[in-house]
Amino acid sequence: DSVFSHVVQAPEDPILGVTVAYNKDPSPVKLNLGVGAYRTEEGKPLVLNVVRKAEQQLVNDRARVKEYLPIIGLAEFNKLSAKLIFGADSPAIQENRVTTVQCLSGTGSLRVGAEFLAKHYHQRTIYVPLPTWGNHPKVFTLAGLSVKTYRYYDPATRGLNFQGLLEDLGSAPAGAIVLLHACAHNPTGVDPTLQQWEQIRQLMRSKKLLPFFDSAYQGFASGSLDADAQSVRMFVADGGECLAAQSYAKNMGLYGERVGALSIVCKTADVAGKVESQLKLVIRPMYSNPPIHGASIVAAILRDRNLYSEWTIELKAMADRIISMRHQLCDALRARGTPGDWSHIIKQIGMFTFTGLNSKQVTFMTKEYHIYMTSDGRISMAGLSSKTVPHLADAIHAAVT
Ligand code: PLP
Repeated sequence: DSVFSHVVQAPEDPILGVTVAYNKDPSPVKLNLGVGAYRTEEGKPLVLNVVRKAEQQLVNDRARVKEYLPIIGLAEFNKLSAKLIFGADSPAIQENRVTTVQCLSGTGSLRVGAEFLAKHYHQRTIYVPLPTWGNHPKVFTLAGLSVKTYRYYDPATRGLNFQGLLEDLGSAPAGAIVLLHACAHNPTGVDPTLQQWEQIRQLMRSKKLLPFFDSAYQGFASGSLDADAQSVRMFVADGGECLAAQSYAKNMGLYGERVGALSIVCKTADVAGKVESQLKLVIRPMYSNPPIHGASIVAAILRDRNLYSEWTIELKAMADRIISMRHQLCDALRARGTPGDWSHIIKQIGMFTFTGLNSKQVTFMTKEYHIYMTSDGRISMAGLSSKTVPHLADAIHAAVT
């Protein structure tokens, strides 16, 4: 008899479970719109050409070894990552007020940041948008923070509940941490406008709320790395403090390489140095030090003018394909005369559309059309192609009529 015989079967992860169900379906027309990973027009995963080139450089460099990185990772990667998100001319970087540590993609960066806050910050409450990426509450709770929500999405308009957001942040206790999606909010695809960001900033600064940005889609939303970092840069420009978790999963297609960074912008260089010393104490017992390969790829691309510019072109092509899928799907529904207003498909931003379909309609589409998505009606636009749009439009049409 096993000493583990009392262990009960855990439920499948709600997002990754969609792919498990998809893989089991023998239908030739099946379509997986659950995954948050880019697919080509042919439905294939994409390794960026610029990543292939950078990897080739790494392989050819016989001087490269596989030694451990320092606890906080590859120094050049960290410096370039901070420049990428805060801007090359960021005063905070020039004044050495930013500490950046390499972590295991976006998730690991969020976790390290949250563990640091739970240990060293006076307020343990973190507000996350409602809804948010399903892993946020789990990551923060396990790190020792207490998770609360602020209103974000308005189902009636399929847009931002800006009034609700302001009210909830306005009544949050002073000092509370606020998780903000830097761009391309997951799962809703709804972002504040720049004017709204500015109002959020003023409110948060006046209430001394601490911003923790999750930047998983820089460049992926609009196609412009700078435009997608505007929200973050606004909060750094006012001289205040914040945290930012960066992921290279989507914008460089490095998903499984697990490359990301956590930056903490502090008031002074002295504080930043001490914060960094404590981040090391968080990381060391967790995984000692981060992996070397992915960070080396990123550093090779960010340091080289030609590779960098090639990257921005490939990144824009991914973003453009997703935007084009939005238009094609919306047009296909209009052509079918599908009841309802589908303009939110075009208005929403980033990898996902929050369709507004309910779980019953989702179940129907999976059963009758072999289309897989999360039960909240979120579909990955990156999983669509010109060939599969008509099938999806047929399914949505049937589900709502
Ligand atoms: N944050 C958000 C909002 C995400 O959507 C994701 C990925 O789906 C992540 C963070 C983290 O992804 P990763 O750990 O693969 O970088």
